[in-house]
Amino acid sequence: MSDSASYDPNADTVIYAVSEGIATITMDRPGYHNAQNGKMTYELDAAFRRAVADDEVKVIVLAGNGKHFSAGHDIGTPGRDVHLSQERAGMWYDHANKPGGEFLYVREAEAYLGMCRRWREIPKPTIAAVQGACIAGGLMLAWVCDLIVATDDAFFSDPVVRMGIPGVEYFAHPFEMPPRIAKEFLFTGDKMSAERAYQVGMVNRLSTRETLHDDVKALAAKIATQPRLGLALTKQAVNHVEDLQGKRTGMDAAFAWHHFSHAHNDLVTGDKLSGFDAKKMAKHNRAGDKS
Ligand code: ZN
Repeated sequence: MSDSASYDPNADTVIYAVSEGIATITMDRPGYHNAQNGKMTYELDAAFRRAVADDEVKVIVLAGNGKHFSAGHDIGTPGRDVHLSQERAGMWYDHANKPGGEFLYVREAEAYLGMCRRWREIPKPTIAAVQGACIAGGLMLAWVCDLIVATDDAFFSDPVVRMGIPGVEYFAHPFEMPPRIAKEFLFTGDKMSAERAYQVGMVNRLSTRETLHDDVKALAAKIATQPRLGLALTKQAVNHVEDLQGKRTGMDAAFAWHHFSHAHNDLVTGDKLSGFDAKKMAKHNRAGDKS
């Protein structure tokens, strides 16, 4: 784990590469387990835009450099930048100078719910290549992708109920797994193994650390032989059916409940995350594992 002394706030957080019609977007904060700060969020958005605009790109892969895919939103590294203004990608105003509940509501409507929805609607197939941890905000990044390939040692969890919050901002849980399993996943905050995630249909294919890159590349190459518009329309059709089933409207309601809990936490504890940072979350999750 890097420390604040060696932290470079200007370092790129995302690597972009194109080869044989496949764009690979790699989160690159391995020293912080690819914790997603604002800088990374906007660099991911720029990379997705670049891949969409490039006619040579047929399929987009989202990967994480290092031991873990993503430890989630940045709630504790020296690069945590939730307080900073960003060059916004959606139609929200700046959050940084806003009071009370408005600060985080505007920020998360823009950078989490808004951004994730846009990424889900990218008109090209996307594949998440997941190894190690895929926690909370990390789930959102994997879930916006059309397909997920995970290593056998990957795991998924959303422990934010510990903060009194009903799941991460992009509330796709009851669509990613059966509702009863989603409740167990959230109520316990337990890690779901890649094998279990495969069984419930969240993960398309299992791989290993050694084969992940090649397996994802082979899958992407196969999809890349299909016609561009056929892929775009197919994706729209499936996403549309999910929205008819309530995915979009369900998420709108969950986002409001999510922000009621942020505001409640602030009123009761003086902190929107109920006093939890990355360290405290990890400590509680470890204790929970033992019980
Ligand atoms: Zn939130």
